[in-house]
Amino acid sequence: MENYDVIIIGAGPAGISTALHLQQIAPELASRTLILEKAQHPRLKPCAGGILPDGIHVLRDLGLDCNEVPHVRAVVANFQFEGRGVAATARDESIAFIVVYRPELDAWLVQKARERGLNIREKVPVQQVLPRESGVEVVTPDQVFRAQVVVGADGAHSVVRRAVSKRRPRFARTILLWVPPSPCSSHQPDQAYFEFSCIAKGIPGYVWDFPVELEGRPMRCWGVYTVSQSADGMRNVLQEIMAEHGYRLEEHRLYGGIIPQFAPEGPFAAPRALLVGDAAGVDPFYGEGIAPALGYGRLAALAIADAFARGDFSFQNYRYALLRSELGKTLRWRLFATQTVYRFSSPAVQRLIWQRSGGIIHWTIEHLFTGWARRGKRHK
Ligand SMILES: Cc1cc2nc3c(=O)[nH]c(=O)nc-3n(C[C@H](O)[C@H](O)[C@H](O)COP(=O)(O)OP(=O)(O)OC[C@H]3O[C@@H](n4cnc5c(N)ncnc54)[C@H](O)[C@@H]3O)c2cc1C
Repeated sequence: MENYDVIIIGAGPAGISTALHLQQIAPELASRTLILEKAQHPRLKPCAGGILPDGIHVLRDLGLDCNEVPHVRAVVANFQFEGRGVAATARDESIAFIVVYRPELDAWLVQKARERGLNIREKVPVQQVLPRESGVEVVTPDQVFRAQVVVGADGAHSVVRRAVSKRRPRFARTILLWVPPSPCSSHQPDQAYFEFSCIAKGIPGYVWDFPVELEGRPMRCWGVYTVSQSADGMRNVLQEIMAEHGYRLEEHRLYGGIIPQFAPEGPFAAPRALLVGDAAGVDPFYGEGIAPALGYGRLAALAIADAFARGDFSFQNYRYALLRSELGKTLRWRLFATQTVYRFSSPAVQRLIWQRSGGIIHWTIEHLFTGWARRGKRHK
């Protein structure tokens, strides 16, 4: 049986960030860490690929420059209700974001981790995680691995989360598609759009339209996000809004996905096991998960280094450390906004929020929704 100090399950942003942070914080542990990934990069990941500056900040602190990954910069983010609302410009550091194609971002992260000597094995699906008193057994089709600590970075359907807790998270739902730019669309090529009018149609969430580049060609990524526990009406609302921009939804391939929502009660950890990224729960308001996944990686690495230093693998403090962290505070604000904004299906209230409260939206985004990576560093 192969033995490791740490086994990270999943080589997405959360898993790779955990490993890279571990290498920064406790290099000796990183050299005895194994990352198991069921797919092979570049792998398909249905995701709109929007990365906010916090994510770029975390990568920069790891010595990684995401300019190496093909991306489009959204110079304006429009938050709208019925086509009218707030235009937040890229002069606002907290609002400017880049849009990547996820298979390219994730393959690049894996390549960088490998160049730094991290041990990643692809095409190894983890079937079971069995916590034992003196370690954890990680069962795959061909062999059983053993580790002192296991990190669940295995996404929305996490095997590790199911092994450590019976609690089922609340999931947000999404559908998305990539289309060429439409000559009939009023949307600007370098701008991103968040349209909240679906809330008044009983779909608490928004329809997005982001600029993106696929194989060097400018494209648009459209999709709908909802915190509703039912998928009813999602397709229709997307079809309706896209038709206004000259698209026929039925002509394109649709992808679906779920996003586990952050909840302060967790679960986040169990003896010898930690959860990060989607496995732990991410932003419930927008379904933003890339930057949070990268942020979780640092917190997990700190917790692992501390556990080995003290010989205490209970991870009792991980939840507390997360909730007290700038990332945790941001996720709580976004949960509060989710429970508040999406509750009101009245068009009058939604018009008031998106069309009349520009100053409040700007302030909220800048001070409560973003900036956690920068603030977290200040408090280090
Ligand atoms: C349609 C859609 C659009 C989205 N758009 C955005 C966006 O624009 N911006 C944003 O910030 N977030 C977005 N998100 C959310 C974002 O994609 C996730 O939050 C993010 O990918 C979480 O990263 P992760 O590393 O935790 O999980 P993942 O990226 O899912 O990575 C998990 C990895 O674990 C592997 N794995 C899974 N199970 C096993 C197993 N049993 N054994 C071994 N390996 C395993 C998977 O193959 C995968 O590589 C979107 C999500 C969806 C569904």
